[in-house]
Amino acid sequence: MATKVTALNWRPQTFSDLVGQGVISTTLQNAIRHDRLHHAYLFAGLRGSGKTSTARIFAKALNCEKGPTPEPCLKCASCKEIRDGNSMDVIEIDAASNNSVDNIRELREMVRYNAARDKNKIYIIDEVHMLSTSAFNALLKTLEEPPPNVFFIMATTELHKIPATILSRSQQFDFKQIPASEIEKRVEEIVKVEKINITKEAIGLIATAAKGSMRDALSLFDQVVAASGEEITVLEVEPILGLVKDIHLVNLMEGVVTDSVERVLTTISELINSGHDLKGVYDSFTSFVRDLIVLKSVTHTSEILVRQYGDPSQFKDILDQVTHADLVRYLNVLVSGEQVFRQASVPQYGLELVLFKMLELKKLQPLETLISDLQSLSFPDQKKNG
Ligand SMILES: [Zn+2]
Repeated sequence: MATKVTALNWRPQTFSDLVGQGVISTTLQNAIRHDRLHHAYLFAGLRGSGKTSTARIFAKALNCEKGPTPEPCLKCASCKEIRDGNSMDVIEIDAASNNSVDNIRELREMVRYNAARDKNKIYIIDEVHMLSTSAFNALLKTLEEPPPNVFFIMATTELHKIPATILSRSQQFDFKQIPASEIEKRVEEIVKVEKINITKEAIGLIATAAKGSMRDALSLFDQVVAASGEEITVLEVEPILGLVKDIHLVNLMEGVVTDSVERVLTTISELINSGHDLKGVYDSFTSFVRDLIVLKSVTHTSEILVRQYGDPSQFKDILDQVTHADLVRYLNVLVSGEQVFRQASVPQYGLELVLFKMLELKKLQPLETLISDLQSLSFPDQKKNG
């Protein structure tokens, strides 16, 4: 049984641990080195791109007993407290739940007092875009005349919601989506240290599924390690990530086009029994139907397909039985049914419902067929001549 790795243990602790944000790390370290610090920083970017981790590392760099230093020691009381989230002088505020003007007034009161022990008082305000307008105005007053030794590090996933007045008083850093290759490298490092037996292909799948978020990659990795035995291969990883094999997609789609409720239902129950997450199944099946449209209508497909498939000839039977218009209607049901699926309290029923709707389509005459039938009835001569 593989050991359990917790994503928590692998949170980056120093600037060099940060994955995929090299430019930002260097800029912040240089600001410390050359004493060119701002009082307000705004970290913007996707969730999981390292904003909060960077904020904590920067806080350590500012408040380390040896600091301000580009390389916090990680050993002093201040570094340790920041790591554990219980520093008196580094205050983390979740703006999502503290977004009122009173919360910010309270904060303005607090910033007037000196740091309890450390060099600086640092406020990390997460999801800062959630502040109310009046709270932003109150915050602005503090940013306009920041007390010495007070720093604000604000983080947001929605930059467009930040007022221009706040933007103009902050130094802004844009956190990019972390490339899968960088996530892969980091997971490989962890695997080495934790002595986990996992194939490179399996790591690749995790890195891709994390969609640019290191945090998601680590928590997926945790799930995979917890659920697997001695050796982890693609076979163990696929169901956990909700990745669905070609054969399952073919079975579902053949069930739909051959009007076989039984085949659809048995495939779904097979997927459930083999531990698949149905949200992943829904996404994979939607991508698959979208890709069938590509395969039906486009000659050079390699760049346009969402998924990589084993052998494209396995789809020939399906493609022979459907028209381009059929596939568009199927995709329409899947895309518009996604909300229904996600809201279903039992995901299995949600998925089944959407597939039943696809089966129903088969029985409905397409509108254009109806119109042309009607036309041939009303204008038999025209039809003959046309
Ligand atoms: Zn330190």
